[in-house]
Amino acid sequence: MPRTGILWSDDFLRHDTGPHHPERSARLNAVRKGLTDSGLMARCEILAPRPVDLKLVERVHAVEYINQFRNACKLGQRSLHTPDCAICPESFEIAELAAGGVVATVDAVMAGTIRNAFCPVRPPGHHAERCAAMGFCYFNNIAIAAEHLRASRKLKRIAILDWDVHHGNGTQHHFEDDPNTLFVSIHQHPYTLFPGTGFEEERGVGNVVNLPMKPGAGDDEYREAFEETLLPTVNAFKPEFILASFGFDPHYRDPLAQLELTTDMFGWMAARARELADALCGGRLVTVLEGGYDLQAVAECTQAHVEALIADQP
Ligand SMILES: [Zn+2]
Repeated sequence: MPRTGILWSDDFLRHDTGPHHPERSARLNAVRKGLTDSGLMARCEILAPRPVDLKLVERVHAVEYINQFRNACKLGQRSLHTPDCAICPESFEIAELAAGGVVATVDAVMAGTIRNAFCPVRPPGHHAERCAAMGFCYFNNIAIAAEHLRASRKLKRIAILDWDVHHGNGTQHHFEDDPNTLFVSIHQHPYTLFPGTGFEEERGVGNVVNLPMKPGAGDDEYREAFEETLLPTVNAFKPEFILASFGFDPHYRDPLAQLELTTDMFGWMAARARELADALCGGRLVTVLEGGYDLQAVAECTQAHVEALIADQP
C-alpha cells in the first residue's frame, strides 16, 4: 500500500514575519519536532515542493493582486494590505512554493505514489481573498489545489473541510457559487473571533455549511457537530477528492482563540477525514496547515494528526 506523504521544505521557515508575530517559523520547527520525536517522519514519504504555475494562481487571485504582492516583496515592504500580513523580500517566492507544494502533493495522491498527505506549509492560505491578503494569508493554497484538480485532473466533485478555529472566508468566497465544490467549516463563532464571517446562514448555493461553535466549546461539541452534520454532509456529497484546511488553533492551549479541544480530538478528526476519503474516493485526502500558535500544542497535534492519516499502514 502507498504510504502517507509529508510535504516538507526548510524554505517555508524563511517567510520572516518579524520577532513578535504569532505566525512565525518556530511553528514549523514544532511540527518537525512532533514528526521526528515520534518517528513518524521516517514512516512517511517526504515530498519536496516546486513553485506554483502563476496561471493557476490566476484562477483564484486577480493578476493585479499577484503583482502587488510580488512588488511589495521586491520593494522591501514589511506588510501587505494589513499590518498583520507581514512579509519579507522572500515571501512571494515562498508563497509560490507553498501553493505549488500542495499542488504537487495532490498530484502525487492522484498518481497513487502516496496514499494521503499532510502539508505543513507557510504562509497559510484560507483567509486570502481574490484581491486581498488577510489574516497572515497571501495565496489561498487549498483553493489553488482544488482548481488544479479540476483544470488538470478533470475531477468534478471536490469537498473542502476546514477545521481551523477561524472561518475560512477566502475559500468560502471563492467557491460559494460552485455547486460542485462542498465547503464545510467548523470554527469559533464569528461574533467572537476574526474574521467575523462563517454564520450558519451563509450557505452559498447550498454547497456551504458553516458550523460556528461558542467560546468554551470542546471535544463533545465538536464530536456532535461532526457526527450530526459534517460526516453525513460529506457522505451525501460523494466527493472525488477531499482537501482539508486544518489548524491546531481550536486547541485549549492556543493563545488566539477560546475553544477547548484536547490533543486527542485532533487525531479523532483526522481519522474521520481519512475514513471518509477511504470510503468515498479511494483514500484521496490532502490536509493543509493553516493556523495553530501554541508550540507545544502544534507538536502534539501534528503527531496525533499524522498518526491518524497513517492508520493501519505498517
Ligand atoms: Zn486560525
